[in-house]
Amino acid sequence: MLKMHNIRKVYRTDTIETHALRDFSLEVEEGEFVSVTGPSGSGKTTFLNIAGLLETATDGQYLLDGVDISKLGDSDRSRQRNEKIGFIFQGFNLIPDLNLFDNIDVPLRYRGFNSKERRRRIEHVLQLVGLSARAKYLPAQLSGGQQQRIAIARALAGEPRFLLADEPTGNLDSEMAAQVMELLESINSAGTTIIMVTHDPELAARARRNIQIVDGRVSDSKAAPVAPVAE
Ligand code: ADP
Ligand code: ADP
Repeated sequence: MLKMHNIRKVYRTDTIETHALRDFSLEVEEGEFVSVTGPSGSGKTTFLNIAGLLETATDGQYLLDGVDISKLGDSDRSRQRNEKIGFIFQGFNLIPDLNLFDNIDVPLRYRGFNSKERRRRIEHVLQLVGLSARAKYLPAQLSGGQQQRIAIARALAGEPRFLLADEPTGNLDSEMAAQVMELLESINSAGTTIIMVTHDPELAARARRNIQIVDGRVSDSKAAPVAPVAE
């Protein structure tokens, strides 16, 4: 479970102080699919980056699976991130001159898995996203939707408990966005907790819960209307 209590995040430059999050409290249960919406500049990315241990809060409490994150040093925080968190971004962030297999391999090498284990994981996630036949392709040889599916595969290869997505469909046309959303839904059904920032109200409504952030605070948190999907 992810639990934030009275999180505050202040960005300081020489002349400006920005309160990106204030009195920010939220709980996300294991297995939830939460969408996050709100005006531009309201703090959505800051929330996701703190939740994903890419940034630290200025103060407040953040418990991830009972671990008090504010008490961790940099290396323990990195370890928690590598073990528990997967990220996907609007821009896919694939390495252009590496084929798809090797793109997925990069973070696995970094974490020191042996080649047999890496291969097992890569083949498994390529199959999950339906792109096994393209393992040797370069990113530019795929559509945007396929590139995002590879970025999702790369995140899943770490076997994360939490998948954090920042505008994952922002660069995709509506048909590809729907495919990516279906993939995220099946990943969530398999047990991974998902938190997704989106501007798209239709996609936001498909999540089981929507939270709205306004001026750095949770302004609304409610179960989304149940979409009429077949089980
Ligand atoms: P959103 O994702 O909702 O658009 P952000 O979390 O990106 O909002 O930003 C929240 C506020 O914090 C904005 O005012 C933004 O300008 C500011 N901000 C975000 N990141 C930084 C940073 N690294 N340095 C200074 N200000 C930042
Ligand atoms: P393994 O088969 O190696 O035991 P897991 O079942 O633990 O792998 O799954 C590895 C990752 O893939 C996890 O993050 C899990 O959430 C995800 N996953 C598992 N099954 C599916 C599925 N059917 N669809 C999407 N993602 C899945």
